[in-house]
Amino acid sequence: MIRSLLIASLSIATLAACAAPDDGGPATSSGAIESPAGKEARALMALVDECSAGAPARAVTDLCVLSHDAMEGRLVGTPGNALAREYIISRFQQIGLAPLGDSFEHPFSFQRRIDFRNPGSPRETIDAVNLIARISGADSSRVMAVTAHYDHVGPGETNEIYNGADDNASGVAGLLAVAEHFMMNPPAHDVLIIAFDAEEGGLNGARHFVDNRPDGIGEVVFNLNLDMLGYSPDGDIWAAGSYHTPGLLPIIEAAADRASVTLKAGYDFPTGDPREDWTLLSDHGPFHMAGIAFLYIGVEDHEHYHQPSDEFGIIDLAFFSGVVDLVVDVAGRADAALSEIAVMDGRGEDG
Ligand SMILES: [Zn+2]
Repeated sequence: MIRSLLIASLSIATLAACAAPDDGGPATSSGAIESPAGKEARALMALVDECSAGAPARAVTDLCVLSHDAMEGRLVGTPGNALAREYIISRFQQIGLAPLGDSFEHPFSFQRRIDFRNPGSPRETIDAVNLIARISGADSSRVMAVTAHYDHVGPGETNEIYNGADDNASGVAGLLAVAEHFMMNPPAHDVLIIAFDAEEGGLNGARHFVDNRPDGIGEVVFNLNLDMLGYSPDGDIWAAGSYHTPGLLPIIEAAADRASVTLKAGYDFPTGDPREDWTLLSDHGPFHMAGIAFLYIGVEDHEHYHQPSDEFGIIDLAFFSGVVDLVVDVAGRADAALSEIAVMDGRGEDG
């Protein structure tokens, strides 16, 4: 199923303007021809309408929009990736988040092999954009970074769209729910809400953030990373990271007691097999390498992982909603415990 949408960069002002009720027609009220940006904004609004039919929970709408064919698999540097970014920024604004610095958008570039399967391939420079918001807490000296990557792997060679519903529209939806929670329940410490770009193929957004910590923030002492929250045939969700920082176990245990899904701790024992040790497999990896404690919340590898079949229809909405509640709970507990986490050793056994 490929829907063709001409996608251009949207201005937020246009998007906001299009959020106002209108007559639903393509022309402006003055009868003038609508601008291309206006058309694109209208296309994004149509996605929201389509995805919010039946009034699902907001996180489900977010997941549906971000995994829509119109996002074309959100590959870094593509118009579909830019459209996903525009949607996330519009949600940041709707939630009332403040940008970190002058803008939510923190651009960077990185090098990658033109043919990623070939180690001898020449390299190209790719432009990417992390999105960062800050929620101020009473204590700004220590910071928790809540993270989820919004990029995915784009269309395949046959132009089949890899929608990345579980990986990682689901995590971004969870990230937005955490942001909403902290806007309604102000945190004790500063919280950064970060939607990373270019996770696929090298954790580039997280690497850039960790290596170039933005000015004006306190010490980042904990990373809660969300990646794949929506599909688990056995109903389990995993928290990795407490092997390295055993002091985080009480947070996992308390959250597990309250959760409607089965939360298990693991996949962080250094076996040397990345299928068994997820310590460096997603954006929490660079935080861990910098000695920062982390918890990664995600499901086990599954048959839809990095397949075109990872689309909205496979998401178990009851499971996903339970996981969203869980990650909000974990985030709240981590904020409350942040001064204790700050003195824990983020590298633990392998440090
Ligand atoms: Zn992912």
